[in-house]
Amino acid sequence: MRNDASVKIDIEKAPTSKINSVDFENLTFGHIFTDHMMVCDYDNGNWKAPKIVPYGPIQLDPSAKVFHYGQAVFEGMKAYCDDNDKIWMFRPEENLQRINKSSKRMAIPEFPEESFFSALEELLKLEKDWIKKGFGNSLYIRPFVIATEAGVLASPASQYKFMIICSPAKSYYTGEVRVQFSEHYSRAADGGVGFAKAAGNYGAQFYPTNLAKEAGFQQIIWTDANSHEYLEEAGTMNIFFRIKDKLITAPTNDRILDGITRKSILALAEANNIDCEVKRVPVKEIVEAAKASELKEIFGTGTAAVINPIQGFSYKGESFELPQLENSYASLLKNKLMRIQYNIDEDIFGWRYEVKE
Ligand SMILES: *Cc1c(COP(=O)(O)O)cnc(C)c1O
Repeated sequence: MRNDASVKIDIEKAPTSKINSVDFENLTFGHIFTDHMMVCDYDNGNWKAPKIVPYGPIQLDPSAKVFHYGQAVFEGMKAYCDDNDKIWMFRPEENLQRINKSSKRMAIPEFPEESFFSALEELLKLEKDWIKKGFGNSLYIRPFVIATEAGVLASPASQYKFMIICSPAKSYYTGEVRVQFSEHYSRAADGGVGFAKAAGNYGAQFYPTNLAKEAGFQQIIWTDANSHEYLEEAGTMNIFFRIKDKLITAPTNDRILDGITRKSILALAEANNIDCEVKRVPVKEIVEAAKASELKEIFGTGTAAVINPIQGFSYKGESFELPQLENSYASLLKNKLMRIQYNIDEDIFGWRYEVKE
């Protein structure tokens, strides 16, 4: 599991740190970035040596392909600090595999494992003071790749930048979330790029999500593009339904992102004797379960919020509210997962990855 990082990383330290000007008690998600970032260029068929440099703007040619054709992919992961000041990541090899899977689909060259782990670990060691102790505090890590080659010919670029930026995060209460099941717009199609964290997947959701917001909903649950009869996932979260005492979630495929939180929650649920079924989820089944008061919970899963409970949904103009549960699966599973992430509970799955001094 552990990759003993070995690529030498060139580090240019920031002359001063911003850390003392940051209010760690009042962080807006993804708003403030740490003092350094990782940059690695691709040119002449090779990824060069990764570098760590002071965080700041980069210069690109206005014709750089990323601006015109959206050749860009990203990842989202976190680092945690335990009570003994040790730094941990959660299944980071899964993020590397996934960004490379996303890259492949977008005709972007894959990034080497040794460079990824060496650069990421150096960066985290340098930014250690930004990873605050305490359950719920974390450092959100955003690796991404962009096509930097100049020229507007619609073809894959020959030059790229792989970068990693980091933003301190706090577990936050998102307020009550009510969702709309999509009846018209689609997020992804068969044979498309839905499984990839490709930039355009997210930009394309903003307009329909704005319409949902105007109608009083915070998010959309996307349905399949062909029939809109099956529930697939949310904008940046996979989605689980609890009918009576069984958890149901859709299988991943080329339209649905293979979330690391999703598969970890499935494994944890199984280990805690919670009945789970991975199957296509008909809207009809969820609506009928809600009408029969058998629909107990809906929640989203993803790195940023871990688990995000949903209070209600609407479909074809009809609205449904979910019960307030004392002992929800959402809070049980969120707590169990976070206790592994923060090195409190034993890690029977081998998910934790220590960033050693
Ligand atoms: C990132 C993402 C998820 C969640 O993935 P995690 O690995 O759990 O963070 C789910 N759906 C979409 C569309 C995503 O972009």
